[in-house]
Amino acid sequence: MKTRLLGVDEIDVAADMIRRGGIVGMPTETVYGLAASAFNETAVANIFVAKGRPQDNPLIVHIASLDTLYELCESVPDVALEVAKRYWPGPLTMVFKKKPVVPHCVTAGMDTVAVRFTAHPVAQELIRRSGLPIAAPSANVSGYPSPTTAAHVMRDLSGKIDAVIDGGSCECGVESTVLSVFGQPRLLRPGSVTLEQLREIVPDVVVDKALRGEVRDDEKVSAPGMKYRHYAPSAPVVAVCGSVKASAEYILREMKAGELCICYSDCVSLFENRLCVEFGKSDDKEALARGIFGALRKADELSPTRIYVQCPDDGGVGLAVANRIKKAAGFNVVDADGVLSCL
Ligand code: AMP
Ligand code: MG
Repeated sequence: MKTRLLGVDEIDVAADMIRRGGIVGMPTETVYGLAASAFNETAVANIFVAKGRPQDNPLIVHIASLDTLYELCESVPDVALEVAKRYWPGPLTMVFKKKPVVPHCVTAGMDTVAVRFTAHPVAQELIRRSGLPIAAPSANVSGYPSPTTAAHVMRDLSGKIDAVIDGGSCECGVESTVLSVFGQPRLLRPGSVTLEQLREIVPDVVVDKALRGEVRDDEKVSAPGMKYRHYAPSAPVVAVCGSVKASAEYILREMKAGELCICYSDCVSLFENRLCVEFGKSDDKEALARGIFGALRKADELSPTRIYVQCPDDGGVGLAVANRIKKAAGFNVVDADGVLSCL
């Protein structure tokens, strides 16, 4: 199949593809998604095939109006409405008890459904013009860093999907925050809506243990996606936490020929004669979020034998950035400040 690269003035073409059961890469404010009708089981199956996604990893359903939420979910708790009032449309997904109308292939057999109301105007328009809720995981090959440009999507999925809409670079750069509101509110995946922001509305939100370390393959987890090694280039990755100075010094000490460092922009001069890729200023965590996946991809293209990454602390969006880096590292984490554990 030839994959068409569409402009943002061709949303109608993409909506038509989706109505006919096709799959299309779409820009969102987080990362590019791979969109299909949530009600078309063949199209949903094709998403799993195109990505090579494990069957037990459910998809997020994207909506462009609150009415659709009630069509998909058995119940919408008050806490979800409060969170929605503040952060929808936006980079936030909530997990609800599903109605039977949501196919099991979308939810990987679970009786819950993850729903997101994206703020991206192109994605919103695509959902509206399709007239359907849209199932869309990130538009990358499973396990590889998420795509933040249309070129990333093309690199991973060209020939396997109908089209990609080129909406430029993604504003957030890391995938949506996932909050389960089914029972005890639980943060399943950190994102651009931060834990601190959620706590203002949901003071009793708990953090899922999968965020803190590797989960065994046979272990039951709340968000199945959390158990896979993710966002990972081919080379082994080491996440180096600690102060800017200490992490840079640690990497300079450890790095050998052929190894690469993904570093803060303010540290580039230290790595002058080494393989290095920068991903944003150390004091600008939003920039680090925007840059991390592109940097991981760029690092991979240089075929290093090992990749060290300077890893920010968990404050604000740092929690999401550090989570992606630690997952890329398979939780191979070093604390350059010398504290026993920084998890
Ligand atoms: P992605 O599509 O790549 O953004 O990944 C979607 C994330 O949402 C994965 O980590 C999934 O495991 C998670 N997710 C999707 N549906 C559910 C659900 N019903 N319950 C819990 N987590 C979910
Ligand atoms: Mg993904």
